[in-house]
Amino acid sequence: MPRPARKKNAATSASTAASGASGIAQKLAKIGLRADWDFALHLPIRYEDETRITRVRDARLGEPCQLEAEITHNEIAYRPRRQLVVQARDGEDVVYLRFLNFYGSQVKQLAVGRRLRLFGEVRQGFFGAEMVHPRYHLVSEGDPVPEALTPVYSTTAGVGQFALRRKIDLALGNLRSQLEDDALPGQIRDRLKLDAFSGSVLTLHRPPPNVPLASLAERTHPAWRRIKFDELLAQQLAMKKARAARDAKSAPRLTTKNKLTEALKKSLPFGLTGAQQRAWQEIAADLAAPHPMQRLLQGDVGSGKTVVSALAATQAIDNGYQAAIMAPTEILAEQHFRKLSALLAPLGVNVTWLTGSLKAKEKREAIEAIASGETQLAIGTHALFQEGVTFAKLGLAVIDEQHRFGVGQRLALREKGEKTAGRDGGSTHEPHQLMMSATPIPRTLSMSYFADLDVSVIDELPPGRTPIVTKLLADSRRDEVLARIRAACQEGAQAYWVCPLIEESETLQLKTAVETFETLTAALPDVKVGLVHGRMKPSEKNEVMSRFVGNEIQLLVATTVIEVGVDVPNATLMVIEHAERMGLSQMHQLRGRVGRGAKQSTCVLLYQSPLGEMARARLKVIYESTDGFEIAREDLRLRGPGEHLGARQSGAPLLRFADIERDIDLLEAARDAAAWMLKHEVGLAEKHLTRWLGSRQHYLKA
Ligand code: ADP
Ligand code: MG
Repeated sequence: MPRPARKKNAATSASTAASGASGIAQKLAKIGLRADWDFALHLPIRYEDETRITRVRDARLGEPCQLEAEITHNEIAYRPRRQLVVQARDGEDVVYLRFLNFYGSQVKQLAVGRRLRLFGEVRQGFFGAEMVHPRYHLVSEGDPVPEALTPVYSTTAGVGQFALRRKIDLALGNLRSQLEDDALPGQIRDRLKLDAFSGSVLTLHRPPPNVPLASLAERTHPAWRRIKFDELLAQQLAMKKARAARDAKSAPRLTTKNKLTEALKKSLPFGLTGAQQRAWQEIAADLAAPHPMQRLLQGDVGSGKTVVSALAATQAIDNGYQAAIMAPTEILAEQHFRKLSALLAPLGVNVTWLTGSLKAKEKREAIEAIASGETQLAIGTHALFQEGVTFAKLGLAVIDEQHRFGVGQRLALREKGEKTAGRDGGSTHEPHQLMMSATPIPRTLSMSYFADLDVSVIDELPPGRTPIVTKLLADSRRDEVLARIRAACQEGAQAYWVCPLIEESETLQLKTAVETFETLTAALPDVKVGLVHGRMKPSEKNEVMSRFVGNEIQLLVATTVIEVGVDVPNATLMVIEHAERMGLSQMHQLRGRVGRGAKQSTCVLLYQSPLGEMARARLKVIYESTDGFEIAREDLRLRGPGEHLGARQSGAPLLRFADIERDIDLLEAARDAAAWMLKHEVGLAEKHLTRWLGSRQHYLKA
């Protein structure tokens, strides 16, 4: 009897192991671990020291350590939750282990008399020293401890550390000889005093016991330095290649004709600032080149980017091409349409407006005008780049607030250009692209994630603006804020009230906005209050916004939808609730909605006290600085690059190990090394890229 039973057992466990293994492979593939190189470069997020065994009496509270003890008792207790409580003895000392989630098999496994190595934090429990959910494994007395620190990897649900470690070992074994083959040219390694590749990878996966844990944890160890450099180098190479691929494509030459362009400049009620002039010259030169421009125009809120984009559009039109300006929201698109048609229609430019909310007939007419070439400038939302819209001859696409658009939309836009090209004598042209953003990109970011773009900066505000005064008030001083709003509205000015950002739930955010609207309406009976939020239909939003523009609404309660681009110079007061929750750059953008006229404007940041240390630090930044660049830099320091990436998120290879702020020296070195390698060591550059990006390389085309 025992025999067949065992056989059956063996068979079942083998088949579960097999299906388990393929299940694991699938799960790992989802987090980007497919090829051997993916595993080899999946480096630990931290390490645990299991090379030493600590006596229970020497264990320090709250610090991870490894104990060894023999089980003396185990029971399932209810206090009050069902839990497995195991008592174990280490000489004279006793330690209790508590498991709130456990399997039946675990109860059997943790039988009296078994010896355990336990890893976790010891704390003072009801009965004495205890560990809650320690990691453990069974040992026999005298079993040796591991000689290396134990790596801990980031993983995914259903794949344990042990299984992942085995996969990584396997991959490292398969790659043994390739690891020795360093993709970094010796002279770069020598000059930068970088460690060898294979040694670095192996050290990080299996650090020998004499490696100081702190240098591994803080990633200052020379092995980390090498790996971080390699990661940054892969990013730089990828960006430079994307850039070279673009330069190899062709685009219509939109040369300086100075017909409409000059007419537009003359008709402006103001002269361009020096910074606008510079940005415009850079763009004009790009447009005249025979390959597609990809330029990011960045400038703080209110710095006057729109006019510069209008000049670019007229240069395209001067050359017989169409231009398109795409904005992320209907409100913003309409504002552009109103302003730009006021400027350009008198000069004889045919401007068409296209958004999702147009009536069917209007939409059809707009699409026809764009397809026939009658339209010279098309302004709208992403509807401009949806299926069914064909441009007769698109020469320039402007994307306002580029971080609001996704990669998919950028690709769709480029395809419009290619379709256009088909009609244009068979040669494939891509349109020039001008992206605009009010979120300033710190230098480290533009050197890394944005390295394939050219950047123009408008670093000067038009003259005659009065600086905005920022006030920080605890939420308990709401009444003072209400009094201020009332006073401002009585003087004919207008105000915004921005409701708190509630990231967990859009519904909750909406509810809060509606409630705030009701409370403010009741509290300010003599003020006309309006509400705009993200769930409204575009036409409803427009309706509210145009009433605000016309001063029929004096206080506009809004969710963060007003963040982008709205321009109402008569609004001089901005109240931001729960400012402590908001991102710094976002808050800076919101603040930029006021201070657009000659009158003194105020931004009141209401916060909920008490403030945490981090929140205090952040509010201090926004309070003390009105410089978008400085604010963005602080935001980057405090929150990482996520906020800025937007459309680039899946386009640029994300960094896992290097930190562009802390590792700026390596970033600069990698930039120079990438340029050198693409010139002198193309083969090694390719090898390096394949190792680091492998199958992910195709994302780079977006
Ligand atoms: P943003 O860069 O935030 O998109 P806008 O293009 O909306 O800024 O410009 C903000 C305001 O400044 C607009 O009302 C615009 O007409 C005005 N403006 C732009 N350039 C100048 C200038 N050189 N002198 C004076 N006002 C300007
Ligand atoms: Mg703008």
